[in-house]
Amino acid sequence: MTPHHLHAVAAAWSLQAALAALQAAAMEAVADALAGDTGRRDISIPSQQFGRRHALGGHGDPTADHALGAWAPTRPDPCAEALGSILRELDRLAGHLPGAPGQDPATRIRQAIPGMRPHVAARTSQALRHLDRAARRHLHMPPDLAPLPGNPPCPACRLQMLQVHTADPTRTVVCTADCHCTGDTCPCGMPVRLEGAAHIWTSDRLTREAA
Ligand SMILES: [Zn+2]
Ligand SMILES: [Zn+2]
Repeated sequence: MTPHHLHAVAAAWSLQAALAALQAAAMEAVADALAGDTGRRDISIPSQQFGRRHALGGHGDPTADHALGAWAPTRPDPCAEALGSILRELDRLAGHLPGAPGQDPATRIRQAIPGMRPHVAARTSQALRHLDRAARRHLHMPPDLAPLPGNPPCPACRLQMLQVHTADPTRTVVCTADCHCTGDTCPCGMPVRLEGAAHIWTSDRLTREAA
């Protein structure tokens, strides 16, 4: 795979991790809202009795509106809204890709990446990174990067700023020093050296380079 493909796969895994966290946050918000309603339902029972008693006396029940308000639809949770708009965007991106019925669009896109032409992989990578950033912004979640154990220098720029994609099972490594490939003569050791591409290595490859 070219660097564009590796970046796109890493972005897809990162986005899937962010979407799982976003979904968990949205479900937690719904659970909180339901717990809140249950509390109010308990309150609404005595309030209805209270209201009936007052209705007999010819008075309105000031608490009935409050009790009914508990059942009115509330504002959608921001995490659920963000999740919905990201999934719609992913559906659009995955629209023309093959996939098993019911398979989520992020998985379909990720599985299609190795077969993409390099410029399509690069565009897909950009789109996925954009959605990943949007999801993580909602959660105040940091990017899917962790320092590389042993902190070895980058084979290309020699700065010790290599970081590993933790959500990607292949744990690809990138140089965070804005380090780009210079092509055939680049000392990076990427199997496919591509002028202008941000450096990315599979971790086994990097271990070999460092050795
Ligand atoms: Zn570098
Ligand atoms: Zn290079």
